[in-house]
Amino acid sequence: MGEVITVTGMVLSAMPVGDYDKRLVLLTKERGKITAFAKGSRRQNSPLLAPSRPFAFGTFSVYEGRTAYTLHSASISQYYETLTTDMEAVTYGFYFLEFADYYGRENIDGGQILNLLYVTLKAIQNNNIANTLVKLIYELRLMVINGEYPQVFECIHCSKKLTSGYFSPVRGGMFCEDCKGFARGGMSTSEATTYAMQYIVAAPLEKLYTFTLTKDVEKELAQRVSNYKKCYVDKEFHTLSVLEAITT
Ligand SMILES: [Zn+2]
Repeated sequence: MGEVITVTGMVLSAMPVGDYDKRLVLLTKERGKITAFAKGSRRQNSPLLAPSRPFAFGTFSVYEGRTAYTLHSASISQYYETLTTDMEAVTYGFYFLEFADYYGRENIDGGQILNLLYVTLKAIQNNNIANTLVKLIYELRLMVINGEYPQVFECIHCSKKLTSGYFSPVRGGMFCEDCKGFARGGMSTSEATTYAMQYIVAAPLEKLYTFTLTKDVEKELAQRVSNYKKCYVDKEFHTLSVLEAITT
C-alpha cells in the first residue's frame, strides 16, 4: 500500500465491480480526475456505501497504488439528496457529471470545474431558473474553463466593443456589422443574447445562475451554445440522449 492522501472532490461515476466493490471516478481539486476502488462499498453496513454514489461531494482519503487509488474513508458534505428524488433534475445532474468527466484529466487542477458543478447542482434544484437555461449556462461556462473561450466582448476582426453582432462558432466568437464578411457561418445575434453570453463567460460563479431569459432569447442562446459545442466537443453524451427522451 502507498501513502494515504486526502483530496476534495466529487464522485462523477460509480461502477459495480465484483460482488461487493465499486470503481469510482472522482474529480478532485488536488489530483484532477482519478479512479478509486471502494472495496466492500456495496455491503449494506459499509461506511463507504453512501460516499460511493454519484454526486457525493466532500473529502476522500485514498491510498495511492501503482495504477489506481483505493478509497479508505470519506467525509461527505453534500449528497444532493433532493436531486435524487426529482427524475428530471437528476438526469440533468448526470449529464453535468458526464460532461465534467469528458474534460477531466489526471493531475489537472479540478477546482474550477468542481466549483462550477457545485453551484450548478444547486441551481438545478432551484425552481427560480429553468433547467434548460441552467444547462446552457453550464455548457458554455464549462467550455470556457477548459479553454474554449469565445470572444464575445469585441469584434474578432477589428476589436470594436460589441453589444450585438455575428456569432461564428468556427471562428471562436463574434464580429461587428462592418466585419461580418469575415464571420464564417456567422449567426446574427441580438443584444439580449450577446449580453447573456458575455455574462455567462465572465460573471463570478456565485452570480452565474441569477438571471432568466425570455423564451425567444433562450432559444437564440441555445442555438449558439449548441453550435459552439459541436465545433469544440468531440463526443456524443449518453446522458444527453436520455435527457432528450424524458424532456421532449
Ligand atoms: Zn469589426
